[in-house]
Amino acid sequence: RSGNHLLNLINDILDVSRIEADKLTLSLRPFELGGLLEDITDIVSLHARRKGLALCAEIAEGLPQVVVGDEKRLRQVLLNLLNNAVKFTDQGTIAFRVGTDHGRFRFEVQDTGIGIPEGQLAEIFSPFKQLTKHVQSEEGTGLGLAIVKRLVDMMDGRVEVESEPGQGSCFRVTVLLPESDEAPERSAEELPSGYKGRRRTILVVDDKVENRSVLLGTLEPIGFRVLEATDGEEGLASIRTERPDLVFLDLVMPRIDGFDAVRAIRSNPDLDGIRVVAISASVAETIRSECLRIGFDDFLPKPFRQADLLESIRRLIGVEWVTRTRQAEPTEAAQEASPPSLERIDDLIAIVATGNIRSIVAAAERLGEDPATSSFAERVIGLAQEFQINRLTDFLNHARSGTLPAGERPDEP
Ligand code: ADP
Repeated sequence: RSGNHLLNLINDILDVSRIEADKLTLSLRPFELGGLLEDITDIVSLHARRKGLALCAEIAEGLPQVVVGDEKRLRQVLLNLLNNAVKFTDQGTIAFRVGTDHGRFRFEVQDTGIGIPEGQLAEIFSPFKQLTKHVQSEEGTGLGLAIVKRLVDMMDGRVEVESEPGQGSCFRVTVLLPESDEAPERSAEELPSGYKGRRRTILVVDDKVENRSVLLGTLEPIGFRVLEATDGEEGLASIRTERPDLVFLDLVMPRIDGFDAVRAIRSNPDLDGIRVVAISASVAETIRSECLRIGFDDFLPKPFRQADLLESIRRLIGVEWVTRTRQAEPTEAAQEASPPSLERIDDLIAIVATGNIRSIVAAAERLGEDPATSSFAERVIGLAQEFQINRLTDFLNHARSGTLPAGERPDEP
């Protein structure tokens, strides 16, 4: 964590110095706005959920699909504001609103957090300004908002903030993002939305919760059942009872390490056919060949690229990826299955934020009594029973903003 913090600090300082030295230029290209917003809400809802906060995305209807701008820098700006909102809020909701205003885009991040005293509203955009007496446990560099302000200035936009101590803050960014007819370049890093065939189980064995979360956050949304274990001993127990299709095994762990665990798996004929991938921060070629020699099926150096991770999974368990077409037309069935009213979706979002599966199912069952919303309710119940809280939150947020992607609409498997 300290390493990450230093890395963030260095990146932030580099950004600030590039901006100050006029060395940072925006790279303007057509990109899919919906995709960017989806990625951002996916990332932030994971953080928000960990803190017991609900993230509510309200994306206006009829926004242009492809716009011209610097996607990477816009992502940086929005993630910064949303991460701050999560960081400085202990309970309640983070609202992320996107709409247009006089031909400009308006992005609003509103939280129910600690707020900022009126006299300090201007200062927070200065480098290294942290009103640290508020929060001690959360780390930050104090450069985030300085960078946000400068990037938005470069985009000829504006950042405004309103805040009420004890009530919350609202950051608003307005920028011009002209609509484009050009198709955006496809990103090689784009994740598939799922895979064909039966649901597969993947076990992640790593003593670091951060490392497990990365894999969990990547694999669960694609539809894998992901199990976790914190060391080799727990991992072996889970392999025996759960028979996962694939295991990601960290090498260095307390009690039984990755080397001993794979030896135990390979010497047990009952566990034949289980695929095991070593994950390690060491990139030494000798470690890789040693791993393959003692029975690992593959080796992924940490930090891995998502594309390499997915390729390893595809190769080892032979799944065929399905990529979502974002602008797919709604199917007839989906058009018939209307989502419930915003009020009822909001109620569900609040219940989902509690994480209580029984309450979620009970609320969805009540919703299912109305035939118009029964397939919507079934989808909610299905996700809740699989403990897919992230996907459920996303599903409800999309339903709320009327942007359910194909494959996530009710009535679709
Ligand atoms: P940091 O790395 O500390 O988050 P930022 O430049 O992003 O740095 O923010 C500067 C300071 O502004 C923060 O330390 C915090 O005191 C205040 N701040 C930023 N966003 C919020 C928010 N949503 N609610 C309350 N305070 C905030």
